[in-house]
Amino acid sequence: MSALGLDLGGTSVRAAVLDPVSGAILASAKEQHADRSPEAVVAACVRVAQAAVAAAGCALPGSAAIGVAGQCAGHSGLVVNAPNLGWRMVPLAERLGRALGLRVRVLNDLSAAAIGEHRFGAARGVEDAVLFFAGSGVGAGLLVGGRLAEGGAGFAGEVGHVKVIPRPTTPERRCGCGQLGCLEAYTGGHALTARAREALAAGRMQGLAAAVGGDAALVIPSRIEQAAAAGDADAASLWEEAGELLGDAAANLVTVLNPARLVLGGGVLLGCPLLFARVEARLRDRASASAGQSLAVVRAALGDDAGVVGAALAGAGG
Ligand SMILES: [Zn+2]
Repeated sequence: MSALGLDLGGTSVRAAVLDPVSGAILASAKEQHADRSPEAVVAACVRVAQAAVAAAGCALPGSAAIGVAGQCAGHSGLVVNAPNLGWRMVPLAERLGRALGLRVRVLNDLSAAAIGEHRFGAARGVEDAVLFFAGSGVGAGLLVGGRLAEGGAGFAGEVGHVKVIPRPTTPERRCGCGQLGCLEAYTGGHALTARAREALAAGRMQGLAAAVGGDAALVIPSRIEQAAAAGDADAASLWEEAGELLGDAAANLVTVLNPARLVLGGGVLLGCPLLFARVEARLRDRASASAGQSLAVVRAALGDDAGVVGAALAGAGG
């Protein structure tokens, strides 16, 4: 019996058919969003789901799940806020379920990734693990006592929205969630890129400016890291702050939840080894000594597959 999972991000949606016993992806399909309206995205979800099922040579299962980069009220199937899609209060489970003719469960993308990494990846074999991911956004997936912890309404693990800056800054850096002082608004990939571009516009980050030939559109987090490593003091300062803020947030999760394993991942952390090392060193220094003592810190193992694998397991009731 195969399982169907979808992973919906700000720029694309992917569907995969999974063998839930072996963890093998039997087939998958992906589409970039030309249009982020709920109607267009649901239609794209239907196309990739049907394409993956057809490629796997199986029938649509009776249920599926979709991981969404945003705040999801799990039991109601509502996407409350997905800033990268520009969505507020979209009843995704109902719309997608009706369009596909099956039961659909909606969960946060990192909760889905946590299920995937727990069953087949870097969190395998432990009952208590925390996924801490920094990509275009920042988030966490929490496994407590062998189960996914989604909180009372599905919003647990939203570490990107913990407040790390106590007072308004200039510019104020309002988060996609609408609030001020959020970790993600200072350290998410979109935020780091925006901050580096501001520095270029103000005549700073000269090393980075030279590396991109003055073209701010070419700035991505790994280029900021390269400039920091090559001696650009402004880039190094941004990287130092990002390492501190991300490391402190991960340390605080470790202090509160005492996981056996902390899984670090996401495109920014995995694509920037210097930042990864700083975050790891910082969190080891700042987690409580008692919780830090027994902690193993590991890299995410399933890469981009974690979300669809976990969603497929969740959709099959796993
Ligand atoms: Zn926020």
